[in-house]
Amino acid sequence: MHITTLLAAVVMLGGACARCAELPVTAWQGRTMGSPYNVKIVDGKLSESQVVALKAEIEGVLTEVNRQMSNYQPESELSRFNRAAAKVPFKVAAEFARVARFSLELSRESEGAFDPTLGPVINLWGFGESTAQPAVPTPAALRAATAKTGWRNLTITAAGELVKELPDLALDLGAVAKGFAVDEMIRVLRSHGLENLYASIAGEVRVLGHNPHGAKWVLGISVPVDHWRDNNPMAAVVSITNQALSSSGDYQKFFIDAQGRRQCHIIDGKSGTPVQHALAAVTVVAPDSMTADGFATTLFVLGPQAGMKFIDARAEAAALFIVRDKDGSFRQLASAKFAALTGYQP
Ligand code: AMP
Ligand code: MG
Repeated sequence: MHITTLLAAVVMLGGACARCAELPVTAWQGRTMGSPYNVKIVDGKLSESQVVALKAEIEGVLTEVNRQMSNYQPESELSRFNRAAAKVPFKVAAEFARVARFSLELSRESEGAFDPTLGPVINLWGFGESTAQPAVPTPAALRAATAKTGWRNLTITAAGELVKELPDLALDLGAVAKGFAVDEMIRVLRSHGLENLYASIAGEVRVLGHNPHGAKWVLGISVPVDHWRDNNPMAAVVSITNQALSSSGDYQKFFIDAQGRRQCHIIDGKSGTPVQHALAAVTVVAPDSMTADGFATTLFVLGPQAGMKFIDARAEAAALFIVRDKDGSFRQLASAKFAALTGYQP
């Protein structure tokens, strides 16, 4: 049994013009949500004191996102809500309410494929905040955990209060919180008049304006091989601006069960079991990171057919599905708008 953790399915590549002069870049890396984050600013040289102040402000909003939505901090608003009583309105911060609303909307639109209340089931499989070894649970344990879930048992009042209908209902925003945090980083950078930007947390990336070569940002989507490494081969290269990219897949956190089946950390909300289909990864492009992050997880649950329908119905988003064939090779399926939105060439 083994678990592989991926850092980023998306990597930044150089510009199209290797001999062109590079514009000055202010860049730094840090850590948040158990992952590395990156900031790159291509708006002229910033002074050292400006960088120190910006970094402090960015880390401040990241700390605030965690204070609100972290599953791992016992005193976060989310953890306190998860311990709170049923039917009692629980006031949360405006940002938290917005992310929770977006999550419930995705649940409705995907008819429960996406479900931010699967925490007890995710924990049972050993993929959550508990320290349990990943393992296939007994049917009785799975039934008991599933009985504590269900997005329909959660409502948000107009005043931004969460209300649970079941005492053990718990919220897990793991599928959207990193994307939201990237949007927060971009919001801070823009508020200082900066326009040519790259911000990422793990594989959630959002870019604005141009890259250091004065062109669109060029990003590589890696082949979803197990035991992912930095120098993995690229499945595709995209050029984007004013957009976000997010990947979800079953090659990051998984174990192989006694029957040889891959059991991954993304759970089908309808069955309570890890997604079992031919999709190895899906990459979404969307105007902002929370949307890209949420859609990527949703499409991964829906699979290539239903997922394609879901994404083709969205005006400004598109996806690249990477399907694992029986012989272990990979096949790419682009949604209708993917090439037009990213410059992707099959
Ligand atoms: P991502 O890496 O963005 O695809 O998010 C994966 C995380 O989302 C998992 O680690 C779980 O915390 C959570 N998750 C798993 N399955 C679902 C689901 N069906 N709907 C919503 N969140 C999920
Ligand atoms: Mg996601």
